[in-house]
Amino acid sequence: MANLLPMRDIVPHMKNWSCDITVQERQQITSSMGTPTKKQKFVFYDSEGSRVEGIIFNDDIPRMSQALQIYKKYRISNAEVRPIPAKFQTSDLTVQWVISSRTVIDKIPDDDEVMPVSFCYSKFTDLVQYMDDKTKSVDVLGVVISALERKTVTKNSRQSDVQKFVLLNEESHTVLLSLWDTFLANEGEDILSKLHSFPVIIARRVKVNNYNGVALGTWFDSAILVDPPIQEARELKNWALRNTDLIKELVENKAYIKYNPHLSLKSDQKTTWICNITSSQKTIWVKAQISFEHIFQKYWYMSCKNCCRATAAGHEVVFTCNSCKEKHPAVPRCRFDVDLTDSTGVIPASLFGELAEKLLTFNALEAMQHFNENVELPLEFVHSELKSKNFLLHIKPVQAQLADARQRYTIIYYSEIHGAANSVQLAMQTKDGSPFPSKDSDTIQLETPGENSARSKICVRLSDRFDEPQHIDLEQDGNPECSSNKKQKLN
Ligand SMILES: [Zn+2]
Repeated sequence: MANLLPMRDIVPHMKNWSCDITVQERQQITSSMGTPTKKQKFVFYDSEGSRVEGIIFNDDIPRMSQALQIYKKYRISNAEVRPIPAKFQTSDLTVQWVISSRTVIDKIPDDDEVMPVSFCYSKFTDLVQYMDDKTKSVDVLGVVISALERKTVTKNSRQSDVQKFVLLNEESHTVLLSLWDTFLANEGEDILSKLHSFPVIIARRVKVNNYNGVALGTWFDSAILVDPPIQEARELKNWALRNTDLIKELVENKAYIKYNPHLSLKSDQKTTWICNITSSQKTIWVKAQISFEHIFQKYWYMSCKNCCRATAAGHEVVFTCNSCKEKHPAVPRCRFDVDLTDSTGVIPASLFGELAEKLLTFNALEAMQHFNENVELPLEFVHSELKSKNFLLHIKPVQAQLADARQRYTIIYYSEIHGAANSVQLAMQTKDGSPFPSKDSDTIQLETPGENSARSKICVRLSDRFDEPQHIDLEQDGNPECSSNKKQKLN
């Protein structure tokens, strides 16, 4: 007869025990790189709040997995208990129970208790610290208020499904969480079916990406807990139920697809000197002046209204987009190239959509109409205004190299720097004559200052490149729904 023991008394290699547990996490089935081994991990806790990892391998997965449903209570006997080797520990759990077809799992009645476990959630405003850090993942708590369209993207010749969900916290900040493949098929479907009742989720071990600012995404080790029986989750759901008007407004405005400087900028945002930008940097902030050539040119391209991809279709011609498969009229979308200049160098960058329209002070339709009527846009005022302004910019490198072989950047956010302190600082740098101040970056790129100060010649070739939609595909950035460049892990 097996002894019924608390979890903490069950040590590696022990036999003849039973333990009452609740399933806290049920992860996706994954396979290890380069081996045929498949596994599915779980997290179990008991009434004392102790936790262990459960794991099922290979052929036992179809036999045993369904017997362990999330948040349900079971009496488990005969699991093999073993320590988790340090290199496989992905959380604070050090002991693993191997569930096989010899393990006895009996369902025991739930009394709908609150989980006696606590998580350490990252605040939405702290996520920026982990942006593009491959070694870090975060736990977040949020109420799902909306879902964007489901997409199928092809990466490394494999198709992946992805859908973004809008998470809201009590500070009324939103952040987008992408669920990939099996996460979408399992927890994603669950969330969608509960969307009307404000499902609260705990996203565990998700990655912070830079996609139009801070964004979250699942990877192989993540877990998505939907409406978990946890005190904070219940409080958040009650908060949502008290604030349905606010949520309705957020969903209607769709502001969550825009860059949110409250989340993506730190209050004391550090910037990099242009001469110090390295090829390994994915997320770059600079303080710079913006300028662009004042010549007759196109400031727009024809695009899919839904996903912003460039199209060869003419204005108002209904076409089926190759990318999102939606049928829409083609619409003009603003896009143009600028130079970013600080006291250490010049780099070429592009702006898209609303961001481009705001700087240009004309919208894409107006730009197109002027061009089609062979009339230059009256930009004298814009050019003279820009000369006296400094901007804080969030830029990211464009992956595709263009003909001139210079690294190009996309501007995903800019704001004018007001106040004397900043302009004095910038002016002093120029007078200082030291082109390589290193306080904001530990890498100094060795380059002669003369090379960097050459004006960018990109505008001259601008119209050529607008006839190459594949380049625009890679550069488009305004709409987070079409993130084929998104970092992804396949399960
Ligand atoms: Zn499209």
